[in-house]
Amino acid sequence: MSTQQSISNLNKEQEKIIFFESDGAAQYKENLKLSGWVGRDGVFYGTNENVARYVNCTHRKCSTCGHVYLKNAYCEKCWENQENEKFEQMEIVNCDSWNEDQPLCLHDGDEIFYLQDDIENYCDEEGVKPSAIKLVFAKPVYLSEIDIKDLFKSGGVFDGDLTVAELVPDNIWGMIDNLNKAIKESSPVFWVPGSKRVQLSDNDS
Ligand SMILES: [Zn+2]
Repeated sequence: MSTQQSISNLNKEQEKIIFFESDGAAQYKENLKLSGWVGRDGVFYGTNENVARYVNCTHRKCSTCGHVYLKNAYCEKCWENQENEKFEQMEIVNCDSWNEDQPLCLHDGDEIFYLQDDIENYCDEEGVKPSAIKLVFAKPVYLSEIDIKDLFKSGGVFDGDLTVAELVPDNIWGMIDNLNKAIKESSPVFWVPGSKRVQLSDNDS
């Protein structure tokens, strides 16, 4: 058989129609001798040992520290250690430069402090000293200005001969300009932990 003929046969085989109900699609076999991984659920996973184990286990043991955690979670101990290391490595800023326009927050973002009193209250409630809390400067997050050109980046059917300026009606441009001006002048919508840590002394609050 020439190479051309075998390619032609292969193409014919690929083009063959196999119906859902036909034996060509699947056949029921009995008394099969199979070797492979079977999970607690009784399902045969073949060579997929990892899948069989993952589906049928409930917990995992951290390979770094041995801590036991839910299989679809992560090791909280290692995560906490990494967060502490990141915090230790941050640049320390002299807290004298803190004014109350610039909030402080816990480095994990759980609490934000706008006023010195907030810190005192937190320390009282938690029974901790100011020097012991992991504080960072909070970073403001602002609303983003609208760039209507982004709308056209995702493609779509429009008259390619027209520029974006021509496609968008003039009155809409005016509204977008006003909206963007308002956004530019607006206050932060929320705050996130920044990358500079603040070390308070116990006399500071
Ligand atoms: Zn761990």
